[in-house]
Amino acid sequence: MRAQIMGLITPTMAIVFCAVFLVMWWRGKMDNYVLGFAATYLFFSLGFGVTHLFDTDAPYVFHITQFFYTMAICATMWGLARRAGQPHHLGAMMVVYFLSAATLFAALVTTNDRSSALLIVNMGYGVMKLITVMVLVGAHRREAIDKLIIAVQAVFSAQFFIRPVLTLTIDQSIPAELYRESVYYSVLNLSLALLSLVGAVVLIGACVYDQIRAVREHAELDGLTGLLTRRAFERDVVEKIEKSKQGSIPVSLVVADIDHFKAVNDVWGHQIGDNAIAQFGEVIAAEIRDTDIAGRIGGEEFCVLAWNCDGKAAVKLAERIRERFAEMQVAGMPHDHRLTASFGVAGRDEGEGYGKLFARSDGALYRAKKEGRNRSVRAEQPSSRGTVTSINSVQAQTA
Ligand code: GH3
Ligand code: MG
Ligand code: MG
Repeated sequence: MRAQIMGLITPTMAIVFCAVFLVMWWRGKMDNYVLGFAATYLFFSLGFGVTHLFDTDAPYVFHITQFFYTMAICATMWGLARRAGQPHHLGAMMVVYFLSAATLFAALVTTNDRSSALLIVNMGYGVMKLITVMVLVGAHRREAIDKLIIAVQAVFSAQFFIRPVLTLTIDQSIPAELYRESVYYSVLNLSLALLSLVGAVVLIGACVYDQIRAVREHAELDGLTGLLTRRAFERDVVEKIEKSKQGSIPVSLVVADIDHFKAVNDVWGHQIGDNAIAQFGEVIAAEIRDTDIAGRIGGEEFCVLAWNCDGKAAVKLAERIRERFAEMQVAGMPHDHRLTASFGVAGRDEGEGYGKLFARSDGALYRAKKEGRNRSVRAEQPSSRGTVTSINSVQAQTA
């Protein structure tokens, strides 16, 4: 009786973990991969409960347990692969399941000794966990929490191969009626309880980590344009400039400001002004590369750090943005009306940090405004004085 009650601890714990994942998914509005984790613990609890509560003399108990444990392993694989952006290979898992289920059936009908059946099911689980590890190892994302998940899954896989072999060397053979009294059964209970606990803690940790990261990333994005806020932009740019110094990679800064924007708000209202800002942000996001950084640094002022790009190439980028925006119809504005923007561009000079680079780009923007707006002006390069370039639409077309 005492053993029966103790045996219920693990499935009860698993149900609690299942509930924790469901609540995190629902209240935290998290991605469906969390549902995979919830399903893992539901199936695990069912599998464990079946072995514990039903008569293990009956062969069908092994089949039912194997089915639930396989479902649990597949649910983890599905959740983890989805989280890592990897294919889930559930087809391969099913092949392993059917092969081991068929072999298990053959073993159960030919002998009363349960040891061969146990070896078969454990090898099957081990292979499935190995597939999970291989899928995760192939993922691009490899932060500390991802490495921890891979390590735990690898331990899961290894114990499915090692544990039955070790414990069966002690038990030698396990007649069906003595299954619950076997060393194998005790070690299995202990290791499953421990692993499910460690596994759940790591998966809950991963969910919390993902949630914090999502909240932080969200706080760093400007609500109107989806580009970085000024603070996040400056932090990332300072970091990137340091990298460019180390690798001697050219970088440039482009500062942009929509022309006569006060009038837009005054004539058409703030909402239309917001539409213009959002659309300008869209143009910038579409024109830059993944390695560039873009931020909204003021009301209708934007900044781009162009990576691996000298001042001359950055002017081309500014011109692409300027031309696209000048052709764009802003939602809510009259069809024949177009807005324009001015750009200041500076290529980073040797030894220059973000502060000086920004000051030169901003100075160039000021000149662009003074020279008539709707143009890009490249700042003078301190190391080669005399290269001030102003490009307006006509020059850009003939260049
Ligand atoms: P210039 O061509 O010299 O840039 O003239 P401008 O009228 O655009 O002047 P300035 O850049 O100083 O104008 C900024 C204006 O942007 C002032 C403010 O009313 C408006 N603004 C700032 N933030 C927002 C915002 O989030 N939404 C809207 N609709 N307007 C904003
Ligand atoms: Mg302006
Ligand atoms: Mg402005």
